[in-house]
Amino acid sequence: MPDTAPTDIRAHLEGANPVPLAMALIHLTGDLSLLEQIAPHVRGAWEHLESIPPELASSIRDRMATCLKDINATQTPVMAAPSSQIIQQMMSTAVGEAVSEAYVPMLLEQVGLRVSDQHMLHAEDPPEAQASPKHAQAFKPNRHPFEVAIIGAGASGLCAAIQLKKLGIPYTIFEKNDEVGGTWYENRYPGCAVDTPNHFYQFSFEPNNNWPNYFSQRDAIQAYLQHCADKYEVRSHVHFNTEVSSAVFNEETQTWLLHSTDKTGQSHTKEANAIICAVGQLNRPAIPKLPGLSQYEGQVVHTAAWPEHLVVKDKKVALIGTGASAVQVGPAIADQVASLAVLQRSGSWVVRRPNIDGVVSEDTKWVLNNVPFYAPWYRFQLFWAFGDGLFEALKIDPTWEGGSESISAFNARLRESMMKHIRRELAGRDDLLQKVVPDFPPFGKRVLGDSGWYKMLKRDNVRLETAAIKQVHARAVELDDGTIIEADILVMATGFQAGRMLWPMDIQGRGGVTIREKWGDDDPRAFLGITAPEFPNFFMMYGPNTNIGHGGSALFLAECQSRYFMGLIHALNTQNIRSVECRQEVHDRYNDEIDSLLSKLSWSHPAVSTWYKNAKGRIVTNQPWSLLDYWRLTYEAQLSDYHQVR
Ligand SMILES: Cc1cc2nc3c(=O)[nH]c(=O)nc-3n(C[C@H](O)[C@H](O)[C@H](O)COP(=O)(O)OP(=O)(O)OC[C@H]3O[C@@H](n4cnc5c(N)ncnc54)[C@H](O)[C@@H]3O)c2cc1C
Repeated sequence: MPDTAPTDIRAHLEGANPVPLAMALIHLTGDLSLLEQIAPHVRGAWEHLESIPPELASSIRDRMATCLKDINATQTPVMAAPSSQIIQQMMSTAVGEAVSEAYVPMLLEQVGLRVSDQHMLHAEDPPEAQASPKHAQAFKPNRHPFEVAIIGAGASGLCAAIQLKKLGIPYTIFEKNDEVGGTWYENRYPGCAVDTPNHFYQFSFEPNNNWPNYFSQRDAIQAYLQHCADKYEVRSHVHFNTEVSSAVFNEETQTWLLHSTDKTGQSHTKEANAIICAVGQLNRPAIPKLPGLSQYEGQVVHTAAWPEHLVVKDKKVALIGTGASAVQVGPAIADQVASLAVLQRSGSWVVRRPNIDGVVSEDTKWVLNNVPFYAPWYRFQLFWAFGDGLFEALKIDPTWEGGSESISAFNARLRESMMKHIRRELAGRDDLLQKVVPDFPPFGKRVLGDSGWYKMLKRDNVRLETAAIKQVHARAVELDDGTIIEADILVMATGFQAGRMLWPMDIQGRGGVTIREKWGDDDPRAFLGITAPEFPNFFMMYGPNTNIGHGGSALFLAECQSRYFMGLIHALNTQNIRSVECRQEVHDRYNDEIDSLLSKLSWSHPAVSTWYKNAKGRIVTNQPWSLLDYWRLTYEAQLSDYHQVR
């Protein structure tokens, strides 16, 4: 901690959330009675913000100020590493509900805490831990050369590259753009931001305590990913402006041959022992086939390809879609445009999120940077509030008799609190209320944060239309009910070709079988979303059935997936194995299991139509697991699940 005057310390602590602060204080003082003091006031991971009495919050801050002075002198926290039982107790108190013991190891890893009974973790040290510098030094590959090709330098590709570096395994990345970042490089529409809180949407191995906002805008996230690329020296491994068109497996050499084209049109080939395919689920924009679109004379803009100098000021804009990008771009441009017509096919649950527009104060940054144990506990709170604390809401209760608007008592309670927000925001506008309330239960689609959506809908220059699009004319859109919407710009907030995974690459596995032959146009399947039979040494990230539907962060996913296949890559390098290929029965059993689990979750509700499903109605993008389930499933690869060629 820097040399800060005591009065300044107390002032900075005003920027602290009292619950993580109390948890940090327990580490520093060993005073478990704090748990009893705060427990009655915490009714959920967010619910304490208003319910902790100000005098209690103030006394926690006073005590922390005193403690920080003492700690500065002694440098010894009393409970630097509490037992897992105490950690469990602290976690449960911090979020106001019982957190199962099973969460302890995952959360400790994710939030970077230590426990005194460390044998619990060491007993089954994850491969990622083995990739720590300590293990990396001991790691002696027995086969050379072994090289990995990564396709894509978004968050997933970067995560994999960083882990390979720790293992000391050579790699090359192919990236079609001229910069790293993927989603956050490409999406530049006004208002583009995360809807997962940033102190959770970051790698656990690279915490950032200086996010400008609680839900930062695209530039800050892109800067963070660029920082990761620089810090871990990834850049020099990347072939930028180079798109991989195909990858072909050679059974004789047990290697992959990648074909790519750079921006000058020149073709290249590269041989690699393994491929990490990190091309993202949300990378290829979807443009709806609207009748007459080709005759439209205005400008058509997809949110993921927002032109740098697009002028919307005083223009008539039609915004097609009301999903994640639409609810961000609409409020960001509404006060500039002459008119904004929002064309809604089906509504979204757009809900209150604490701090959604909040700037992180300098005091809060000081606390995150200087109060020992505060940042991990704050991350844990977010992890629960935006992750598994919501998982129950996905489950269809077969005995539920509360109507088709919800799927269980928990889901109904969340619906009611969402409705409260919508009613408050649209007070006096029953016309809008009737249009915006989705006709499917909460969590039927991604639940979105409200950063001004309802306020925007109430503006005089904004109209919400719910009739289907019939025809696009030269400068207008005609709806089924005869309404004509004049438009200089059509903004397509229409999402991505998510189900058409790995498209347009041609991936040929063992025996020349192609991924498209296996998956068709939109029916991708894989074991854990990572490996598939007939495609040896081919590891996918953010692949089939991996998207998290209840909350959570894609960066958490990337870490789980990297850790899993790093275990396989480690085995390939140390056990004289040339290739690993997922066993068909393992793959099939897994897919049967997830299909069955998915049929019991909210997205399978008959009222839900979503991009999570393919043309036949099978859910192909989302996983049925809680974050804990997926973390455990991907904790350690079992070689018995794989055919091995030696
Ligand atoms: C607007 C928006 C907001 C989002 N907000 C959140 C959020 O709040 N929380 C959350 O968890 N997730 C969010 N997501 C999901 C987001 O995609 C993930 O969080 C994450 O960024 C995915 O990283 P990725 O590396 O897997 O994929 P991407 O970021 O899509 O990266 C894939 C990379 O592969 C490259 N590539 C693709 N094909 C080829 C090829 N053939 N050859 C060479 N390179 C190729 C692409 O150029 C790209 O750089 C959001 C997505 C969008 C679009």
